[in-house]
Amino acid sequence: MELIFERSRPGRGTDLLPPLDVPECPVPEEFARKKAPRLPEIGESDLSRHYQALARRAFGVCDGFYPLGSCTMKYNPKLGEDMAALPGFTGIHPLQPGHTVKGCQLAMAQTEYALARITGMDRVTLQPAAGAHGEFTGLLLIKAYHRHRGDNARTVILVPDSAHGTNPASAAMAGFTVRNIPSNADGLVDLEALRAACGPDTAGLMLTNPNTVGLFERDILEITKIVHEAGGLVYYDGANLNAIMGVARPGDMGFDVCHLNLHKTFATPHGGGGPGSGPVGCKEFLAPFMPGSALCGNGGEHSIGQVRAFHANFLVVIRALAYLMRLGNARVAEAAQGAVLNANYLKRKLEEAGYTAAFPGLCMHEFVLTLERLKKETGVSALDVAKAMLDDGIHPPTMYFPLIVHEALMFEPTETEAPETLDQAAAVLADILRRAKEDPESLHAAPHSTVVGRPDETAAARHPVVRYSFPEG
Ligand SMILES: *Cc1c(COP(=O)(O)O)cnc(C)c1O
Repeated sequence: MELIFERSRPGRGTDLLPPLDVPECPVPEEFARKKAPRLPEIGESDLSRHYQALARRAFGVCDGFYPLGSCTMKYNPKLGEDMAALPGFTGIHPLQPGHTVKGCQLAMAQTEYALARITGMDRVTLQPAAGAHGEFTGLLLIKAYHRHRGDNARTVILVPDSAHGTNPASAAMAGFTVRNIPSNADGLVDLEALRAACGPDTAGLMLTNPNTVGLFERDILEITKIVHEAGGLVYYDGANLNAIMGVARPGDMGFDVCHLNLHKTFATPHGGGGPGSGPVGCKEFLAPFMPGSALCGNGGEHSIGQVRAFHANFLVVIRALAYLMRLGNARVAEAAQGAVLNANYLKRKLEEAGYTAAFPGLCMHEFVLTLERLKKETGVSALDVAKAMLDDGIHPPTMYFPLIVHEALMFEPTETEAPETLDQAAAVLADILRRAKEDPESLHAAPHSTVVGRPDETAAARHPVVRYSFPEG
């Protein structure tokens, strides 16, 4: 496909700006360019076709099934986009006098209130701009809490080996040492290992429940008790609340602080580096350490301070509020139940087709298959299966994650998929399994129908080419 610079022709273009009707104000010499910028010159219709063609090469939830585990790629109601585009929300400035933006403040306060109720926390800040940023903020709260009590020996954050990679990274960034807690054979936190790891250096434990293999930690009350008795706090990674929102609350499980990803569970599209939002909630005793909130101003005497400029990724917050108001109290739980039902439905169908789940029994909103045996028997890997799905218009699940499962494929169908879609995906995967046994070669070469098939992923990650090089240099 031609790049926009390659389609450029000197002198082509579209006049979008009206003629200048104010005095010209030249840029001071020292700031002025010596040469005109090399911008593509292209007519409007060709420009439009160029981006349309690019869009057709991308795959999103509105194109087809997108069961990317741990990411909650669910359909986000268009209503949220309409609400977030209202001029009253888009046409404001964060430095505007408060009395001129009362409605926006109310919207933020309502969202804080709703999220506090959903998580079972007492206070919420909307500041953090993403999940990992929320983790960092929450860990700073934990750190401030111990410091404030003069308990400076608590330097270790415990993280299960199945955790999302951001957990240990955020703990390290917040200045903690990370200690891994192994999972047991059922994929759950090993209580004995947790007890053994807890001590006077324990600042806290970071946990997600359901955990990263899609299982609910049945011993969660015992887990939070063990950490509390050792003097640590417990952090809930609620990036993915799809399985439990409206049904169970981290605050009731003994968690002290948590974050949510509005850009997974609460109606903002996730992925592609778009705006996110990772609100943090905490119990009352941590409130004095919180950054400012929409309602409570700049935070208290012991506040860890602002964690971002201004209040929040505001329009992401508006989408979340619109989503929650549209669902209403009762249907928040229904969405979670639908997510769990769909995951179990697909899991069972794939098991019937001959796939092996990494962990047996009921799952929550996602589940992990292990293709270790298939690889041994046929040479077909999780990567081959994922690539083959592309030929049937299905986005692959998350691959090779979590690290504790070999040849892992992690599916999260979400509540917004119809049973027919799940049946069709199961049929596609059953057929891939048949081909793996009869004609493994065809799978090593998949996908056959996409523009890009098997890029050198290491090179793409290590040496990305994101700048156009003009032929004439
Ligand atoms: C996505 C996710 C995160 C990180 O969220 P970002 O917004 O990508 O920083 C953290 N934990 C879990 C469990 C996640 O699924």
